[in-house]
Amino acid sequence: MKVAEFAGITHRYNDQVAIKNLSIGFEANKITAIIGMSGSGKSTALQLINGLVRPTLGDVRVFNQALNYNELTSMRLKIGYMVQNTGLFPHLTVAQNISIASKLTGEQTNPLNRAEELMELVNIPVTFKKKYPYQLSGGEQQRVGICRALFLNPPLLLMDEPLGALDPLTRHEIQNEIRKLQEIEPRSILLVTHDLREAKKLADFIVVMDSGRLLQFDTTENVLQKPSNEKVKKLIDASLS
Ligand code: ADP
Repeated sequence: MKVAEFAGITHRYNDQVAIKNLSIGFEANKITAIIGMSGSGKSTALQLINGLVRPTLGDVRVFNQALNYNELTSMRLKIGYMVQNTGLFPHLTVAQNISIASKLTGEQTNPLNRAEELMELVNIPVTFKKKYPYQLSGGEQQRVGICRALFLNPPLLLMDEPLGALDPLTRHEIQNEIRKLQEIEPRSILLVTHDLREAKKLADFIVVMDSGRLLQFDTTENVLQKPSNEKVKKLIDASLS
């Protein structure tokens, strides 16, 4: 089953073509890493899914429905989105940042329970809930960002270079936490990363992009062992050597 599908997507920012005739389906309840050089269209691909970017040509389907650009708010409640700079609200505490989405739904009866549950899953001491973002390290802030994105338990999580700015050890720890989260609360995750080792560690599938085009889409094992062409092979050799 697919969680999101592109049919003949082309996206242009003014004269700049970011995605060229891309057709692809992302597997539900799996982690798919999107890799490729800077400027290859990875972030645009994620933003096409949550409607931040509207395609110049082609159709986007999410949760088996054509994306309805008039109803984005309700759909985004089902799609977590995380970027490199977490964008935590500086004047809100950790607990308030994590549970901010409860203000949108009004459904969550006890937001603190869910916030604490998530904090435990990503190894943030629950006593941190009253702290403010400036009192946290970069890794802790990123963990809070993960909790916030997962607060409503969205079936789909979009992660755009979430660990890009962190030191290797913190990166490694949070990668393990993402793996643990995926075992406890499986969901569809699309992960943009320039780190092939991260993709290898976390992803079931890998999408390789180059200049807005799809170079290869396959299981992680197949992409690593049977690169479909010389460009993919070069990217893999350069990243893993
Ligand atoms: P990646 O995530 O792989 O680095 P992006 O999707 O961010 O690639 O960008 C793809 C191309 O589109 C790049 O050439 C980039 O410069 C261009 N681009 C991205 N966002 C914008 C924007 N808001 N306005 C104009 N051009 C953009």
